[in-house]
Amino acid sequence: VSLSDRLLALAPRHKEPRVLTIDIETLPGTALYFSRWNVNIGMANVLESPRIGCFAAKWYGKRTIHFHSEHRDGQKAMLERLWHLLNEADVVVTYNGDSFDIPWIRGELAVAGHDPWSPFLSVDLIKTVRRFKFDSKRLDDVVQRYGIGRKMDTGGIELWKGALAGDSKAWAKMRRYNCMDVEITERLLDEVRPYATSLPHLGQWTRDRECCPSCGGNDLTLVGLVYGKTTAYPKLHCEDCGAWVKVLRNGDTRLA
Ligand SMILES: [Zn+2]
Repeated sequence: VSLSDRLLALAPRHKEPRVLTIDIETLPGTALYFSRWNVNIGMANVLESPRIGCFAAKWYGKRTIHFHSEHRDGQKAMLERLWHLLNEADVVVTYNGDSFDIPWIRGELAVAGHDPWSPFLSVDLIKTVRRFKFDSKRLDDVVQRYGIGRKMDTGGIELWKGALAGDSKAWAKMRRYNCMDVEITERLLDEVRPYATSLPHLGQWTRDRECCPSCGGNDLTLVGLVYGKTTAYPKLHCEDCGAWVKVLRNGDTRLA
């Protein structure tokens, strides 16, 4: 038996993927300037750099939305909460997180002295939405198109001014805004699931390699064949989520 097989048998397992939807809000930096027109701000002019001001996170299937901010928790404790949540996650769902939220978090946690987080699979829903060629890929426009909610109106820069000034009303609003973003991101996951090719095969948790990779369901109908360049595979249709599934030679199912 190989080392990998022995460790696979020993490692603690979860029956379901722990899917964390997450969104951060950054606070603007402040800088000195003499002119506003076409200005590049040199680092010497920077008084304070932008930073993560708060985050909201929700476990799939749980109702609670975790929210932590530098206002309520302080920067250090906020980042610690964030690090612990990420360490528990098998899958992290974001909207534009691969180029925004996740690198932001990685950098701030690194300089705060945290070890790298335990690996997770990133599912950035903007990548799925890019497959749709919508005229707008903004989260607000996309969820409105689906009819599953909308982003809260922030009122613009005044909210961030209030947050920087430590105004409790501004932070309460920031919290509602941040939490709403997580809520609608998770709803969007449910909508685009059969198109989200970055989702992991759910059979990794149930140890059922023959289930629908997209939703974990077993109501699969054999419809015909999926033709590749050289090989044809059995083609199944998931009656639960609508995904098209092919069966590989080793018996594993894949999104077709
Ligand atoms: Zn399915």
